[in-house]
Amino acid sequence: MSNREIDALIVGAGINGLYQLYQLRKQGFSAQVIDAGKEIGGTWYWNCYPGARVDSHVPNYEYAFAEELWRDWNWSERFPSWQELRRYFKYVDQKLNLSPDITLDTRVVSAEFNGDENRWMITTDTDEQYRARYFILCTGFASKAHIPDIKGLESFAGDCYHTAHWPQDWPGEGVGFTGKRVGVIGTGASGVQVVQEASVDAAQLTVFQRTPILALPMRQQAYDEAMQLELKKDYAELFRRRRAAFTGFTDIATMNVSALDVSEEERLAVYEDAWTKGGFHYWGGTFSDILRNLEANRTAYDFWRDKTRARIDDPELAEMLAPTEPPHPFGTKRPSLEQNYFDVFNQDNVGLVDISANPIQEVTPDGLVVDGREYPLDLLVLATGFDAITGGLTQIDIRGSVGQSLAQKWSQGVVDHLGLAVAGFPNMFILYGPLAPAGLCNGPTCAELQGEWLVDCLCYLRDNQHSRIETTPEAEQAWTQHVADAGAMTLFPQADSWYMGANIPGKQRQMLNYPSVPDYMAQCNQSAAQGYTGFELS
Ligand code: FAD
Repeated sequence: MSNREIDALIVGAGINGLYQLYQLRKQGFSAQVIDAGKEIGGTWYWNCYPGARVDSHVPNYEYAFAEELWRDWNWSERFPSWQELRRYFKYVDQKLNLSPDITLDTRVVSAEFNGDENRWMITTDTDEQYRARYFILCTGFASKAHIPDIKGLESFAGDCYHTAHWPQDWPGEGVGFTGKRVGVIGTGASGVQVVQEASVDAAQLTVFQRTPILALPMRQQAYDEAMQLELKKDYAELFRRRRAAFTGFTDIATMNVSALDVSEEERLAVYEDAWTKGGFHYWGGTFSDILRNLEANRTAYDFWRDKTRARIDDPELAEMLAPTEPPHPFGTKRPSLEQNYFDVFNQDNVGLVDISANPIQEVTPDGLVVDGREYPLDLLVLATGFDAITGGLTQIDIRGSVGQSLAQKWSQGVVDHLGLAVAGFPNMFILYGPLAPAGLCNGPTCAELQGEWLVDCLCYLRDNQHSRIETTPEAEQAWTQHVADAGAMTLFPQADSWYMGANIPGKQRQMLNYPSVPDYMAQCNQSAAQGYTGFELS
């Protein structure tokens, strides 16, 4: 058992943890990253299911902070696959020499704050111990898979995988589905991606749908080096814009116009343009009130519905996949991108079962029963999402200055200050966590913006000889209320989404994401500029 003394212990080797490691080391701090995965990459290590790929188009899902990183890296597709993202992380590691300070295949199980020494005592499942001045949680929002409580699930005799625990040695895209009877539970982003792959040559693919996914056209494209050389001429400017954009994307911004203040012809032209661009343009790149005003939102839904239904041959299926009336306001659940998701339902080997009114009764050794009918299966895919945003944090036994665990503190709902710090948990910071923009911000943008703030903060503490920083109960109450108020001005609370914590039975329903990156960062930066208001430094 080791007992290492370091400045910062970082949990998670994803885009946030790696950024922290690099920048803290650069500032002369000693830092160590610990990750439960066998490779770096975070989300892209775990989510290796067939079809897994990013929905942030090039050049959004990559670091912008160092020119030598983006200058020398080229993507092969506009929306890169998990395989390419893994290669990217390896490339970043080589360029920045991160590996020497990363411990893989190791889970942080507990952390306790020692108030006399202002140190965190951190323990791993390999019985390593660390004494760290700062405890930095980069556990991501998707570190705890959600396995629904379905009667008989453990009795299933075939293979059963959650998308985030997919076998790392799976034979290859599509191949492993050949000739099998495949069932997919869940139609979120991962469900859509896996359905597209399985539909290719599964003997029978049955999709069990609780809520229709309002998926948007991806418009994938092959990219070559010459083309990217040309694009890179604008990267510096694009990355500058990315930092200031509402959702952290280089080129997605809403217009300053209500959908209700233009003629129908103009409105349809705007929708058509965003639809043609593909990706998240249709989600965040049209009118200012799509996510704020139900009537405006309905116009976006209707356009989506009509476009989608036109691709589905069977009118009954069309009504199930793209209902006349919206299942929830458009865009208030993460839309997800599709390449041929709606088309595959026209194939003879693909079926859809509505489980909204008749939930899955049970899983048997041979398959799945809905409404008294058994669907025989060889492979069951749980595309059932995550205890998102908080699950990765509360599954660690973290005890702060008063002995209370983080899970206990948040049992009635999350409270924190600026999405970064929790009262009673000094010298602990959360990145890409609850009450920050996380789920509503392009990942790398958030990693750099919040990450810079944190590195500056730790430098400030060191330069001013402070050994302890802690937010106050008043500050976190005020921030938590502020996020709830900001959420209430949007339509997000009207959907039972993971943004609202509403996908997990018993989880407190609350707006878990701050819905504007620039407003969020303005408040973080204002606090810093005023000597870290909302925090006590000593
Ligand atoms: P992660 O990448 O999630 O990494 C967290 C790491 O922490 C994991 O490797 C995990 O093993 C480790 N960890 C957690 N707990 C412990 C512990 N106790 N001990 C040790 N290690 C631990 N974002 C976008 O911006 N655009 C997209 O298109 C997009 N697509 C996505 C698709 C999928 C399928 C998923 C799941 C997420 C997607 N995201 C997307 C969100 C994505 O998670 C973030 O972009 C980004 O990966 C977050 O980085 P991170 O470093 O915060 O966390």
